[in-house]
Amino acid sequence: MKGERLDRLLARLGLGSRKEVARLVRAGRVRVAGERVFDPGFPVPEGASLELDGRPLSVRRHHHVLLHKPRGYVTSRTEGPSVYALLEGFPVRDLSPVGRLDKDTEGLLLFTTDGLLLHRLTHPKHKVEKRYLVHLLHPATEEDRRAFREGLVLDGEKLLPAELFWEEDPTRVELVLREGRFHQVKRMFALRGNRVLYLKRLALGPLALGALPLGKARYLTEEEEKALY
Ligand code: URA
Repeated sequence: MKGERLDRLLARLGLGSRKEVARLVRAGRVRVAGERVFDPGFPVPEGASLELDGRPLSVRRHHHVLLHKPRGYVTSRTEGPSVYALLEGFPVRDLSPVGRLDKDTEGLLLFTTDGLLLHRLTHPKHKVEKRYLVHLLHPATEEDRRAFREGLVLDGEKLLPAELFWEEDPTRVELVLREGRFHQVKRMFALRGNRVLYLKRLALGPLALGALPLGKARYLTEEEEKALY
């Protein structure tokens, strides 16, 4: 039968070295076209679907993974506990985070293997929206709303206009930013004499957390990918 060797293909997809991926295969964690395969040398037919631990593997050139980051994890490879510990089974080696979330921030964290996409999503020039849920020590005010819309000055630079919303309770607000500076949400509220008690990123551009459970990760759907490119 013709086809690329399974271990080569998995290594090429960034799941580890040939040796490491062979171990995954021998442990019965990989399915090809729905069938469990134990032979690392198995020839994978062109276009066959692949699964690792029951999760579909994308055989495309780039990978994009959405993580629902819990509090207590650091957006770093070197400091721990690392968000990468939550990405077992994904091509961890080649994934970079699209921006960072603080250790005590939870919510949507996107990882991608596509450097150009990463640049486009993070560069302020492109004004990609980021939506946050924020719990505050003091109620937000109409003055805050106006000041954020006009653009606060942070480190001597004027920020892009930001939208602040709330419904019943002005200590439970949503904030939409179009840039992502270091500790930006916390520092914006600090400038207004307030304090962030809880912070969660709900959306990044066209991507939303939806029903993804806390601590879990998944590949983007085709529609989500299309919306990003
Ligand atoms: N703004 C912050 O202050 N922290 C984050 O993690 C993200 C945005």
